[in-house]
Amino acid sequence: MKKPAPAKTANLHPHTGKIGLHERERRHGHRGCVLWLTGLSASGKSTIAVELERQLFQRGCQTFILDGDAVRQGLCSDLGFSERDRHENIRRVGEVARLFADAGFICVSAFISPHRADRSIVRAMMDDGIFIEVFVNAPLSVCEARDPKGLYAKARQHKIKNFTGISSPYEPPLNPEIELHTNKLTVAEAVEKILRRLEKMCGAGKTARRLAVKPIRWRDS
Ligand code: ADP
Repeated sequence: MKKPAPAKTANLHPHTGKIGLHERERRHGHRGCVLWLTGLSASGKSTIAVELERQLFQRGCQTFILDGDAVRQGLCSDLGFSERDRHENIRRVGEVARLFADAGFICVSAFISPHRADRSIVRAMMDDGIFIEVFVNAPLSVCEARDPKGLYAKARQHKIKNFTGISSPYEPPLNPEIELHTNKLTVAEAVEKILRRLEKMCGAGKTARRLAVKPIRWRDS
């Protein structure tokens, strides 16, 4: 497990627990990981995250959603949508996601996270293979037509500043582990695609219970 970034004070001495990650993973029956859903507003991140979490939970997996709107009401309620605040928002969420992965959870993060550099910073917080980037990809025209929260309409009327895709850029992932074209896939198909990859990558899914009886290896699974 990677060490956190150096703190600004030298006088920190975190305690090491007596429960190892592998013990947690054996109990859960799968590896901990972070599924990082990125994409335009209304591309389907939250919809897919909720259905994915439900299916993972039903299969006996430990899982939890970190969602942009929820985090902005609490942990990041002091942040706005300037470039600097967006960066800090993603950094904090990345640290929380890492804690969940360290606890052996499948953490499903649903954030626009428009900048490649910010997503790279989060990826670098974790060991190889823990961060699984999921590009929830729908054309801007489709997202704008969906507009479930009426945000695109407000952005077009200049009532929202720095709105991703309209007045603020979105940098698509160059090499995501998973890409979901949500203008072509149904929600069920998108979730199934993630579950199939997770079964291979972290033992989640139909095989979770069977894996629970033997140690799970990190590198060669
Ligand atoms: P985001 O979290 O990316 O902002 P939401 O999940 O809140 O997006 O909204 C996506 C909207 O698009 C929802 O109203 C959802 O029902 C709709 N939708 C239509 N088709 C799909 C699909 N294939 N995948 C995900 N959402 C879809």
